[in-house]
Amino acid sequence: MTTENKQPGVLYLVATPIGNLDDITYRAVKVLEEVDFIAAEDTRHSLKLLNHLGITKPMTSYFEHNIRQKGEYIIDRILNGETAALISDAGTPAISDPGEDLVRICHEKGVRVIPVPGAVAGINALICSGLSTSRFSFEGFLSVNKKSRQEHLNSVKQSPYTLIFYEAPHKLKRTLSDMLESFGNRKITIARELTKKYEEILPMTLEDAVKYYDETEPKGEYVLVIEGASPEVAQDENELNSLDVLEHLDFYIKSGMDKKEAMKRVAQDRGVSRRDIYAQTIKE
Ligand code: SAM
Repeated sequence: MTTENKQPGVLYLVATPIGNLDDITYRAVKVLEEVDFIAAEDTRHSLKLLNHLGITKPMTSYFEHNIRQKGEYIIDRILNGETAALISDAGTPAISDPGEDLVRICHEKGVRVIPVPGAVAGINALICSGLSTSRFSFEGFLSVNKKSRQEHLNSVKQSPYTLIFYEAPHKLKRTLSDMLESFGNRKITIARELTKKYEEILPMTLEDAVKYYDETEPKGEYVLVIEGASPEVAQDENELNSLDVLEHLDFYIKSGMDKKEAMKRVAQDRGVSRRDIYAQTIKE
């Protein structure tokens, strides 16, 4: 064991498996063995991993709803000379998991943070997607709030980069139809249950994905990897958004939509509500 793995007054950010318990590095195991305590998102969940690794270590919980108070407690202990490891329920801490706030406070208080790399669901889905890996955008989860999720989708629909989203099974169907509506029929690779028994990598189109999940009940954990906008789409949308609202509406009406549908599309293109578009058409 090198002493490199236990430095006083340090927070280690340790990646743990996203399913298959063998997906943990030798270094991660050494660090978890050597630190004074482990801050875990769900201590009962992480106990199973520690038992599997044969590690006994004091743990404290650090999750979304106790971030502020627990963060201070963890940093105080580190400032008093202890060494801690932060782990989440799966994968890399601070990636759609608690950690970002703790790391920010570490920097404010001069506490050194050290990454101990390992699995990230989004990156493993991306490398299996068959879509461009040269430039990509990690988008995490969409909000459950209708307006926020629409704003999120609108904000990326012209992006030429491959998009990576996380999704829970009970929200998958709605997310796929919202994506089809916002992005149009693009390529998507659905990565399900990575590294686990029922792992699936499904390359298809958004239209086929909507149909597929009309007939198949979603189960397990999902990463959605979506092709970026084609240069023509990005260009067309930029051009439409540079029109005034009435011209923009007129474009869709002339292309065969009724007024209600056209208003919806204009609102989506511009990332505003239909009410805003309606108000502007009355003013103009
Ligand atoms: N920190 C984790 C990481 O490094 O990927 C992500 C945690 S986030 C709370 C959990 C989400 O990650 C799940 O809802 C799912 O979208 C994705 N995820 C985690 N494990 C997965 C797996 N084995 N297969 C597919 N997606 C997974």
